[in-house]
Amino acid sequence: MKLRVLGCSGGIGEGLRTTSFAIDADTLLDAGTGVGDLSLEQLARIDHVFVSHAHLDHVAALPLMLDTVGWMRPAPVTVYALPAVVDVLRRHLFNWHLWPDFTCIPSEAAPWLRFQPVEIGQPVDIGGGRIARALPAHHVVPAAGWHLDSGRGSLVYTGDTTVNDEFWPKVNAIANLRHLIIETAFSNREQELARVSRHLCPEMLGRELDRLERSAEIHITHLKPGEYEAIMEEVQACAGHHEPRMLAGGEELEF
Ligand SMILES: [Zn+2]
Ligand SMILES: [Zn+2]
Repeated sequence: MKLRVLGCSGGIGEGLRTTSFAIDADTLLDAGTGVGDLSLEQLARIDHVFVSHAHLDHVAALPLMLDTVGWMRPAPVTVYALPAVVDVLRRHLFNWHLWPDFTCIPSEAAPWLRFQPVEIGQPVDIGGGRIARALPAHHVVPAAGWHLDSGRGSLVYTGDTTVNDEFWPKVNAIANLRHLIIETAFSNREQELARVSRHLCPEMLGRELDRLERSAEIHITHLKPGEYEAIMEEVQACAGHHEPRMLAGGEELEF
């Protein structure tokens, strides 16, 4: 499988796009503002969208994408998320007030959007030997990380999360782990903000990485705009024997 970074910033601004990754040609992992860089043709080929949680920086482009290319597609786009996340998306986004309910447009029999609620650990087969599983996350709203397995290698994405005891045993059980994309939204100076908003800062990241028992390339995502260098300096200082690097837009990871 190939992951291409469409957006990995904690905010917007020139050259900055929020969390969104293209997986091969037919799948998205989160649907932040980076999705807007795909061509119409590329957007119309997206069959699967794995959503970590319903915060806008992770789903902002989803309603717009459906509205733009739904008519060009032979089948609905399937959105996979925890049941509680699907519930938020139904009640607060696709609710006819903020955006139309595309699960019954243009008709209930042939809609442009289909929700597939999934539990933590439940395998989702998206074809070609590719399996996705939700991982536990600990954020201010219901949230998950995702484990993508090509059969040859695995990539883990934490989603938005703070320190999480349930996460690491599941990651350590992945024998073919190649890549770990983990958030570090704030600097150590903003540790209290990281704690209440349930994100990570470098000091918390360092303690979390101490629990990683696999060797994997570690990629830092969701950095606060304007503080990339300061946060990454702290990340390097806190990471022990690990050598995390900052994820960048346009980058590709194979696994
Ligand atoms: Zn969030
Ligand atoms: Zn976020």
